[in-house]
Amino acid sequence: MAAYDYETHDYDVVVVGAGGAGLRATLGMAEQGLRTACVTKVFPTRSHTVAAQGGIAASLSNMGPDNWQWHMYDTVKGSDWLGDTDAMEYLAREAPKAVYELEHYGVPFSRTEEGKIYQRPFGGHTTEFGEGPPVQRTCAAADRTGHAILHTLYGQSLKNKAEFYIEYFALDLIITDGRCTGVVAWKLDDGTMHVFNAKMVVLATGGYGRAYFSATSAHTCTGDGGGMVARAGLPLQDMEFVQFHPTGIYGSGCLITEGARGEGGYLTNSEGERFMERYAPTYKDLASRDVVSRCMTMEIREGRGVGEHKDHIHLHLNHLPPETLHERLPGISESARIFAGVDLTKEPIPVLPTVHYNMGGIPTNYWGEVLNPTPGNPDAIFPGLMAVGEAGCASVHGANRLGSNSLIDLVVFGRAAAIKAAEVVDPKLRNDPVNKPAVDAIFARFDAVRYADGRIPTAELRLEMQRTMQADAAVFRTDKTLAEGVEKMKVIAGKMGDLKVSDRSLTWNSDLMETLELGNLMPNALATVVAAEARKESRGAHAHEDYPNRDDENWRVHSLALVDGADVTLTTRPVHLDPLTKYEDGGIDLKKIAPKARVY
Ligand SMILES: Cc1cc2nc3c(=O)[nH]c(=O)nc-3n(C[C@H](O)[C@H](O)[C@H](O)COP(=O)(O)OP(=O)(O)OC[C@H]3O[C@@H](n4cnc5c(N)ncnc54)[C@H](O)[C@@H]3O)c2cc1C
Repeated sequence: MAAYDYETHDYDVVVVGAGGAGLRATLGMAEQGLRTACVTKVFPTRSHTVAAQGGIAASLSNMGPDNWQWHMYDTVKGSDWLGDTDAMEYLAREAPKAVYELEHYGVPFSRTEEGKIYQRPFGGHTTEFGEGPPVQRTCAAADRTGHAILHTLYGQSLKNKAEFYIEYFALDLIITDGRCTGVVAWKLDDGTMHVFNAKMVVLATGGYGRAYFSATSAHTCTGDGGGMVARAGLPLQDMEFVQFHPTGIYGSGCLITEGARGEGGYLTNSEGERFMERYAPTYKDLASRDVVSRCMTMEIREGRGVGEHKDHIHLHLNHLPPETLHERLPGISESARIFAGVDLTKEPIPVLPTVHYNMGGIPTNYWGEVLNPTPGNPDAIFPGLMAVGEAGCASVHGANRLGSNSLIDLVVFGRAAAIKAAEVVDPKLRNDPVNKPAVDAIFARFDAVRYADGRIPTAELRLEMQRTMQADAAVFRTDKTLAEGVEKMKVIAGKMGDLKVSDRSLTWNSDLMETLELGNLMPNALATVVAAEARKESRGAHAHEDYPNRDDENWRVHSLALVDGADVTLTTRPVHLDPLTKYEDGGIDLKKIAPKARVY
C-alpha cells in the first residue's frame, strides 16, 4: 500500500462535473460570491452536453400560443405520472427565465424573422393539455444547442472567477458525521492527489449510458456520481427507467436528433409504411420517445425491419427542402454521411433505438439537495451534498423524459442549487479541518484498485456487463429476461474483486481510470436491473411484457436502491403529489394533470 501526499484546497462549494448542469451551478455559485471550484475529468467543453443537438424546452410562445401549464402537463404525461409534481412545476415555470438568462449570457440561439429565439416542435410537446396540435417549444441553436450552451457557460464561469480543476478525477466523497465535507480527486496528468475541503459538494457527473453496449452517450458517461453516492451508503432512485432514443444510427449508436422528426422527418418499415401513423394516430412520429422506440422494436420483432438482417428502421429526411437541412440540421447531415455513409438528401438513414438517457439517479428535492430518506421522513436531506443534471433525479422526468427537457433541467436545477447554496452556505465560516481518517479510507480503496491483481482485464468485465444489460434490461422486458439479468449481473458484479490492473503508474493511466469507472458503472447497472425486475407494471420506459399496464395503485412510487457490492436492497419513496402553488393563486389545475391512459 502506497502512502499518498495530497494538496488541500479549501472552498465554500466544490462542483464535480463541468457539463451544462455543473457549469450552470458553478456560475450561479460564483455569481453569489461563494468561493467555488469546479473539478472535472474532461475539459469542460468536452462534456457530453456538447453533443446535445435538438434544443432546450421553454414555453416562450415565440412561434404560437404556449404557457408553462401546458409544458408542465406534457412533462407530467411524459413522465407517465411518476415525476414529482412540485419539481415539475418548478421546471416548467422557471424554464423561460432560465432560457432568457442563457440568452443574456450570450448563447447564440437561432432566430425567427423578427429576431426572437427560434423554437421547433419536439416529441410529446403539445398545446391545450394534450388536446391541441404539437407546439414549437424547443429553443435551438441550429443542431448544436448543447455546444453553444457549454461554451457560453464556461466563459461566464471564468469571468466570475470560478476556479477550474481540469482533468482531475474525483474518487470519492468525504463523509464526516453524516454530512459531506468534501471530495478527493486524482490529477490525471501528474498523478498528484487533491483533497477538496468544502461546505457543499455538488455532483454534476452526468449519466451512466456506458453501462449498456450501444449508447448515444460519450465514453465518459460512467455514472461516477452514482458510484460515489452508493459507496457512501446513500440510495439511487428510479434506476429501472432508461431511455432509448428512437434514432441512433444503426451500428455506431451516434445520435440523429429528434429535431429531425421535428422538422418533418418520418420513419418507415420494410414495406415502406409510415407505421407510426398506426400506433400514434395524432402525434405520429412525434409521439413520446419510449412509445416510438417500442413501436420500432415491435415492427422489427414482427419481421418488418429493414436491411439484410431486417433488424433496423429507416428515417427519411430526403423529402425536406435542402435549405431546411442546411440551416436547421447541418450537423446531422455530417453524422449521416460519416457514420452511415448516407447522403440524407437522397437516401433514408438506417436507425435503431439506442440507450440515450437515465431518468433515475441520485434522489434530490427541487433545490438539488440530496435526499437520504428514512422511514419517518422520506424527504430527509443529506447535508452538504447536492446533485444536479443527469446524475440527479429531482424527479422531473419520472419514467420517461421528453426530448429537450434535459437541457432545461440542467440549467433550471443548476441555477436552483446555486440559489439554495447561497442560503445554506456561510462564506464567513471557516471550513472544518480535513477528515483525515475518511481521506485515508478513500486512498485505501484507490490502492486496492490500483494494485488489483486478479485474472480479469477491465475491458473484458465491462463488455460482459454491457452485453448483459443490453440483452436483459433493454426496451422489451419480461419476468424471465429480467430475472436472468439479475442473476447474471450479480455474478458479474461479484467479479469486481478479481480484476487485473496491469498499469500501476499514476500518470495518464487509462487502465486505472477505466477500472475506477467500471467500479462506478457497476452499482448503477446493478441497481437498474434489480429495480426493473422488481417493478411489476409497465410505465414509461419500463415496458414489461408480462405486466402491460400501468398500476398506479401499487406502483406510483419511486424506487430506491441501496447497493453494497453485489447486493441491492430496494425500498420506495412516495411521489410528491402536491404542487408548489395553489390553482387559485395561478398554479396548475390538479384535475388537468390527474393520471389517465397515456396515448399520443
Ligand atoms: C447525443 C446526445 C444528444 C442529446 N441531445 C439533447 C437535446 O437536444 N436536448 C436535451 O434536452 N437533452 C439532450 N440530451 C441529453 C442531455 O444532453 C444530457 O442529459 C445532459 O447534457 C447531461 O448533462 P450533465 O451536465 O448532467 O452531464 P455531462 O454533460 O455528461 O457532464 C458530466 C461532467 O461530469 C464530469 N465528471 C464525471 N465523472 C467525473 C469524475 N469522476 N471526476 C471529475 N469529473 C467527472 C465530466 O468531466 C463532465 O464535465 C442529449 C444527450 C446525448 C447523449
